[in-house]
Amino acid sequence: MASNLTERLSRLVKTMRGQSRITESNVQDMLREVRMALLEADVALPVVRDFIARVKDKALGQEVVSSLTPGQVLVSIVQKELSATMGEGVSDINLATQPPAVILMAGLQGAGKTTTTAKLAKHLIEKRKKKVLTVSADVYRPAAIEQLKTVTAQAGAEWFPSAPDQKPAEIAAAAIDHARRHYFDVLLVDTAGRLAIDEALMAEIKALHAQLKPVETLFVVDAMQGQDAVNTAKAFKDTLPLTGVVLTKLDGDSRGGAALSVRQITGVPIKFAGVSEKIDGLEVFDADRHAGRVLGMGDIVALVEEVQKGVDIEAAQKLAEKVKSGAEFDFNDFLSQISQMKKMGGLSGLMDKLPTELAAKAGQADMDKAERDVRRMEGIISAMTAKERRQPALLMDGKSKASRKRRIAQGAGVQIQDVNRLLNQFEQMQTMMKKMKGGGLMKMMKRMGG
Ligand code: GDP
Repeated sequence: MASNLTERLSRLVKTMRGQSRITESNVQDMLREVRMALLEADVALPVVRDFIARVKDKALGQEVVSSLTPGQVLVSIVQKELSATMGEGVSDINLATQPPAVILMAGLQGAGKTTTTAKLAKHLIEKRKKKVLTVSADVYRPAAIEQLKTVTAQAGAEWFPSAPDQKPAEIAAAAIDHARRHYFDVLLVDTAGRLAIDEALMAEIKALHAQLKPVETLFVVDAMQGQDAVNTAKAFKDTLPLTGVVLTKLDGDSRGGAALSVRQITGVPIKFAGVSEKIDGLEVFDADRHAGRVLGMGDIVALVEEVQKGVDIEAAQKLAEKVKSGAEFDFNDFLSQISQMKKMGGLSGLMDKLPTELAAKAGQADMDKAERDVRRMEGIISAMTAKERRQPALLMDGKSKASRKRRIAQGAGVQIQDVNRLLNQFEQMQTMMKKMKGGGLMKMMKRMGG
């Protein structure tokens, strides 16, 4: 696994302590690391070059506040520039037109157009209280029309039938007519994709655009496409006046560098991110958060501030030392970590700031519930004996583990399953700690906080 940008920079920065300015000579090495981080995140090369030039411009001559190192200052410049490049506040769907507002979905086959169409329908119904109709103009793949029918039903929207023997223009005309006569607020038009850009496809969608005059023309692109996203984006941008981008499959392994490339190439905002195959897996795109993902480091700047503000740095350092020394991570450490997380503004607040890999490991599902779980976890740990807390093995594979667990459950007023769940979570955390031995979060916090 590639180490994150903060770690890379920290390594360099050690050699430049005491330097109070970012200069032409010390910035080169750092920029090389930034460049590598971006390329690893799959940002396209020309986009990386542009970006680096802008960062360099901003960084040169920048004063370095005494408590920070030039590396930290550069990280924060990079992160701010990334967020600024990728976003401009919240940009929801524009519906400011005479209804029905038409939204045209464009993109390659497999990008996630059909799925996103339904997700968007659900979003517009639930968040904007709109009456939504969907239609597929993909006359080449009957399965695509059926797929839209299915997912539209899941979204609670209405679906307008179309068939492979119709022409896209004919379908579009009938759908818009139906939408008008039945007072739909929004008509979402799913279109045919190809596996690669081809002229006929482009001509067809261009004609549809001219006919439908959509208020939004959304380019749907798969974040996993990485470098290739640039060519696709360019082709679509040259054909259609795009108004926004939906970046799908951000739940995959991709570091999401495509966001930066596509934003730069199309010049239009990334409005939504697809984060699962499910119908509710659509989020309003958050540029700040995504910047951290691209750099593989979460919102480090904010994390550092919070760490300095609230957390017992000494305790964090102790734990870091302990983990490093290879000593076993026990329930006392677990408890101290839980209470530190609470100090850092709750689990949900912290999860937002953690590097993506860590956050993903910790499971980001339902943070409110997580906070409730944390209270229960504390209760369970308190019901353990001091010996059990120091020797987790007693509960995991000790001979009398069953009776111990029963006693603890009783003491904490919970079910055995709750105790088992805690043991599982503990085990995961223990594994994670072992993995971080070489240089993980605590080490990083220590370095940046101290
Ligand atoms: P289309 O050909 O562009 O209409 O693409 P589809 O909507 O059929 O999606 C292609 C595949 O990608 C399907 O298996 C979807 O379930 C999947 N997919 C779409 N969006 C997402 C997403 O945000 N996350 C994940 N994990 N899968 C997605």
